[in-house]
Amino acid sequence: MMAQYLDIKAQYTEALLFYRMGDFYEMFFDDAVQAAAALDIALTRRGKHLGEDIAMCGVPVHSAEGYLLTLIRKGFRVAIAEQMEDPAEAKKRGSKSVVKRDVVRLVTPGTLTEESLLEARRHNFLAAYAEVRDEAALAWVDISTGEFRVMTCPPVRLGPELARLAPKEVVLSEAAEAGLSRLVEDTGASVTPLSRGSFDSTSGERRLCDLYGVQTLDAFGSFGRAELSAMGAIVDYLDLTQRGRLPLLRPPVREAAEGLVQIDASTRRNLEITASLSGGRDGSLLHAIDRTVTAAGGRLLERRLSSPSRDLDLIRGRIAAVASLVEARDLAEALRGDLRKTPDMDRALSRLSLDRGGPRDLAAIRGGLRQAAQVAARLPQDAPRLLRDAAKSLHGHDELCALLETALVAEPPMLLRDGGFIAAGFDGELDQARRLRDEGRGVIAAMQAQYAAETGIASLKIKHNNVLGYFIETTATHADRMLAPPLNERFIHRQTTANQVRFTTVELSELETRILNAGSHAQEIEKRLFDSLRSAVLDQAARIAQAARALAEIDLAAAFADIAVTDDWTLPKVDDSRAFRVRGGRHPVVERALRRQGGSFIANDCDLSAGEGAALWLVTGPNMAGKSTFLRQNALIALLAQAGSFVPAAEAHIGLVSQLFSRVGAADDLARGRSTFMVEMVETAAILNQADDRALVILDEIGRGTATYDGLSIAWATLEHLHDVNRCRGLFATHYHEMTALAGKLAGVENATVAVREWEGEVIFLHELRKGAADRSYGVQVARLAGLPDAVVARARTVLEALEAGEREGGRRPKALIDDLPLFAAAPAAPPLRPAQPSAVEERLAAVLPDELTPKEALALIYDLRAML
Ligand code: ADP
Repeated sequence: MMAQYLDIKAQYTEALLFYRMGDFYEMFFDDAVQAAAALDIALTRRGKHLGEDIAMCGVPVHSAEGYLLTLIRKGFRVAIAEQMEDPAEAKKRGSKSVVKRDVVRLVTPGTLTEESLLEARRHNFLAAYAEVRDEAALAWVDISTGEFRVMTCPPVRLGPELARLAPKEVVLSEAAEAGLSRLVEDTGASVTPLSRGSFDSTSGERRLCDLYGVQTLDAFGSFGRAELSAMGAIVDYLDLTQRGRLPLLRPPVREAAEGLVQIDASTRRNLEITASLSGGRDGSLLHAIDRTVTAAGGRLLERRLSSPSRDLDLIRGRIAAVASLVEARDLAEALRGDLRKTPDMDRALSRLSLDRGGPRDLAAIRGGLRQAAQVAARLPQDAPRLLRDAAKSLHGHDELCALLETALVAEPPMLLRDGGFIAAGFDGELDQARRLRDEGRGVIAAMQAQYAAETGIASLKIKHNNVLGYFIETTATHADRMLAPPLNERFIHRQTTANQVRFTTVELSELETRILNAGSHAQEIEKRLFDSLRSAVLDQAARIAQAARALAEIDLAAAFADIAVTDDWTLPKVDDSRAFRVRGGRHPVVERALRRQGGSFIANDCDLSAGEGAALWLVTGPNMAGKSTFLRQNALIALLAQAGSFVPAAEAHIGLVSQLFSRVGAADDLARGRSTFMVEMVETAAILNQADDRALVILDEIGRGTATYDGLSIAWATLEHLHDVNRCRGLFATHYHEMTALAGKLAGVENATVAVREWEGEVIFLHELRKGAADRSYGVQVARLAGLPDAVVARARTVLEALEAGEREGGRRPKALIDDLPLFAAAPAAPPLRPAQPSAVEERLAAVLPDELTPKEALALIYDLRAML
């Protein structure tokens, strides 16, 4: 057996080997050591190999999925070796013969299909990147839904595209691995190197043709060499991991980079589109606005927000669908009611195609198609095109639906081997086998009663276990009677345990055989029926997948309509112009958080619609005034509009945005070991080099990460470049008030400021955006709000006044000031730890007996106290 183990293991050196032995998957040697640590399970020993103990650990087969999930999350891959024959077969070949085993599947992060291993509302993409001469392409697939896509992808676009798709695993050719694995790992995906042969574009083309059973791929589009190479590598890898059993993949769809808003990785992070800065889903745009009621709808929302479109017709069609459901509230609610009951057909279909599905997956298809018919019946004839098109894919599944309705019981079990999922009346032979089996059970009960009467032992029972089968059991005290004549002629002794004695009879053994035969016969029939239902489903796979997609599309439109109504969003006007005009815009995530705390969000306008040239707003105002929020809310409004949604504003007119850029000064990026300022500059450079005149650029405090004059100079030059060269639309927040002078010089730059009011030396944030420049920064007041000690605040105020006076008097340098200012005097200004003497007010209060005061006296007391201040 060890020889067989080592033989198999040698082919899967990169993976842990789950070696099936009866009811367990066992691991040996180093695999066992690693797995025991990762899973926190006991490490034991079994036998010796080359004189050393063999380390071993194991997990029960029935709970293997949970362990698999932990291992995959911890970055392992797992090869699963099953027993390929009944152990009885092996025994027939000879007593030393080992059961045949083989790897049936290699489990990797990008090739999961089990419900328990997947996140329902997230895609699980596997990607491959290929370069052929000067072409490069990225292909990706979600085998749990059959989605298969490809795009040309020059090396500089790889990072941004991976950030968009967030694949779990990326396949690279061995040659490219060294240069790219760091970039890939930075996106959180695991890297899998494959040999050059897997990336050969000619064999790739052949693999694809085989997969789809076509002579040429022309029907799917014309693909470049690099695209064929990347797609071919994916198919090859699936072949390897699924051991030849390929999942159901939809024909590959070519995605054009020009069709989507380009958003790079740091912009995504910064705008917190699908994940918040802390990495979780909470706090992200996706989380805040997700009102979808199906998992597939949730996945579609994530895709739309990650890849907003630049196709005007598409965007308008999507918005029109949302608008129609905003109008027809009752319809929208009824649709959502139907959708809530819709199972995840995509994933069920994928499991069935890989022969990993069970009765419950058939039931999911049944439930999904049943709901599809409901939804289709509800959609009116005059619905917008997107909804009408969706309805078309929902029709015409009646036959399959009816078949599954009659074939399956209402709540089938998860696993095929549990049996009992075919409804009574569907198959005569099955019904008969079941009747025999069940009658047998009735006969057993009758037999027990009869034996109890015959022997006079009322407590006699007929039981069943896997070792003895059916047996008669009685307590040791009664057993003597049965072991003696005449009863011992009929009752054959089988076993004596501590308290019980077990018997059988000829009659019972015969009955048992009959029951067993009927039972296994029923099981066989069910398995056969399952296979035929499965092929009936797979025959319709493409149309079922289409229906699933249509349901997801309707779910998303209804979800957008729901948030539009409850959160008072508006229909955006999207066109080909260069307008960017938002009236009463809000930040959906900040607004939600404020609302939860009982606060309210102050809506703000933004207008970047300056004809042909650049249109930039220079936003000044103190920290905490709401600059970042304002910047981001406008980016998100553009993103939502192009994702096909209503937007959080009173009115919005968005000229198509081609690229979205967002940067924040001095964001910490210690993990990647670059200085914050360096990161800031690298990212700014990327924008200045890439932004076109259709881009929307948002820069928050660029230059903050360095000395004042350096920072100011960089911010200044950056703004000029955006204005003169990129000529884009943008918002630029800065605390360098000196820059507001640029508005007079550059035609496309306007000043805006977030208003604050000063009251008794404190700032009050109004969160209101106004035209014009901030008069001052209120940094000292903000510092005080933050709880800086009073002495420090007072001192800062003195220094600030001196600096400002110095500036007015012709630029006295801070260095001179240091000599002139009186010394810092912390001690006197610091609050005493304990008041030395109680004040007069305190003394007076201490003398009051509240219970004895009349209301009138109490009021008089307040007047007195007030007068003493
Ligand atoms: P800045 O970038 O100017 O330092 P932020 O945009 O980070 O300020 O905003 C600071 C806080 O002010 C936010 O966390 C939010 O709670 C609040 N805030 C910002 N904008 C608004 C608004 N328009 N209405 C209400 N509260 C706001």
